[in-house]
Amino acid sequence: MKMHLRRLLSLNKSLIDRRYFHRTSNLCERKPENPIWRTLRILGEDLQFKRRAPKTPEEHVKLLNRQFPRHADVVIIGGGAIGSSIAYWLKYKTNYDGIHVVVLDKDTTFKKCSTAISMGALTQQYSLPENIQLATYGAEFLRNSKRTFGDEININFDPAGYLLLASEDGASQLEDNIKLQNEYGTINILLSPQQIKKRFPYLDVTDVAIGSLGLEREGWFNAWDMLTLIRSNAIKLGAQYINAEAIDFLFEEKKDIMVEGVEGYYQGTNQIVVKLPNEEDYRTIEFAYCIIAAGHESTEVSKLAGIGIKPGMLSIPLPIEKRQRYVYSFDCKEHVPSINTPMIEDYSGIYFRREGLAGTFLVGASPHPDFTPPSDSEEDKSKFFNEMVLPCLSRRVPAFKDVQVTGSWSGPYDYNVFDGNGIVGPHPYYINMYLATGFSNQGIQQAPGVGRAVAEMIVDGGFKTIDLTRLGFDRLIVDKPMYQLRIA
Ligand SMILES: Cc1cc2nc3c(=O)[nH]c(=O)nc-3n(C[C@H](O)[C@H](O)[C@H](O)COP(=O)(O)OP(=O)(O)OC[C@H]3O[C@@H](n4cnc5c(N)ncnc54)[C@H](O)[C@@H]3O)c2cc1C
Repeated sequence: MKMHLRRLLSLNKSLIDRRYFHRTSNLCERKPENPIWRTLRILGEDLQFKRRAPKTPEEHVKLLNRQFPRHADVVIIGGGAIGSSIAYWLKYKTNYDGIHVVVLDKDTTFKKCSTAISMGALTQQYSLPENIQLATYGAEFLRNSKRTFGDEININFDPAGYLLLASEDGASQLEDNIKLQNEYGTINILLSPQQIKKRFPYLDVTDVAIGSLGLEREGWFNAWDMLTLIRSNAIKLGAQYINAEAIDFLFEEKKDIMVEGVEGYYQGTNQIVVKLPNEEDYRTIEFAYCIIAAGHESTEVSKLAGIGIKPGMLSIPLPIEKRQRYVYSFDCKEHVPSINTPMIEDYSGIYFRREGLAGTFLVGASPHPDFTPPSDSEEDKSKFFNEMVLPCLSRRVPAFKDVQVTGSWSGPYDYNVFDGNGIVGPHPYYINMYLATGFSNQGIQQAPGVGRAVAEMIVDGGFKTIDLTRLGFDRLIVDKPMYQLRIA
């Protein structure tokens, strides 16, 4: 046993040196682990062979919580679609073992996160090249999911298309958007009201000036299944999910780091304080990189790092606010949809799609950002449906005039009040903190591309596939919003 220990110790020492130098090429320097602790930890890990392997992701989370990490190469705050996708891509790009990724989530059931309640719509019909490309990649990721991950989880991607309806006010914008989208490889077509009526006779198009229809890579999918797929594959590749809430960062004055435009010494952080579900228990994790992907709570998390609170470059807050969205289901046996019935988004702000082929539909609406949303009570939800949703819905599809709600849900999403688009990339003050949040109503479809982009930044040192530089935090500093010019 003594011989074995000594051999392991010397082997570890050389491994530590190699790993340490390897890591410094891409990642921030970090102290090598004490050889004795490392040896004991590896022996401990070996003994786990005797334990029953975790069968479900939940069991895995429990097991890993018992092996609480004291440090990680990358800590991701938030394990929704965005955080989980980043974890998956980081592990994938570093050949599974090259990097220790920890995902923190205060609720590892994920039942209440925006991802779980999303409608899973996917469209490429945007005016920003970044959003078009992210959607196109999202569709490719979904289309290839069985080939990449196997048959275990079915995301139910239904590529039935996406139809946007514009009024006279939005017509020329829609035409410009389509031109740009098709330059980026989409197959989207413009339809006159007559052509729309011919294809979809149940629509009333008397007030519609023009429509655009995506013929490829558009439709909807099951957002919960997508989260399960990405998360379970991140776990398979070795990402460690921890059920804990990020509650603080520990700061250190770094006299050897100069930050342009910052007076005094740089106050860096490479430790996060987390609270375990057991309220008494607080722990710290040392990290080389930290990524804030906490959805609509990202601004609160960023404040823990002084963003929006401290002076100078830190004085600009993260502009992510919580906004409510409502989704209702209803049946209409009079109108049984065909397989090519697309998701339809109306210029009034409502969007609806079929759920299966037996006459069940889902309709969603986001109240205007300035509108004070009603509460989550059944009474308020029903009032919102009757006053705000049904009039627009039955205007567009007269057959829906008397439909009754059969189910509903509502929940918050991460609205970027600055310009309605995601913020992706490093924070300009911290050398080791990244942001991936504020995707507003596009977060699910963008998750595969955003995860890959953030992993590229960390592992390769820059974007390799879709260039998301313009979606960085810097646009807040120079006050250059990236508005999404859609339809009216
Ligand atoms: C009703 C509805 C319908 C939608 N429909 C669509 C759609 O059709 N298509 C589309 O693309 N998008 C849609 N969206 C938007 C989309 O769901 C979101 O943009 C996306 O889910 C955001 O993912 P996320 O991972 O950033 O956030 P989330 O899924 O909210 O995940 C954030 C995670 O961070 C965790 N967290 C927060 N604070 C902390 C902390 N301090 N410590 C640890 N963990 C923390 C939370 O527990 C949560 O699990 C919809 C949203 C809603 C609400």
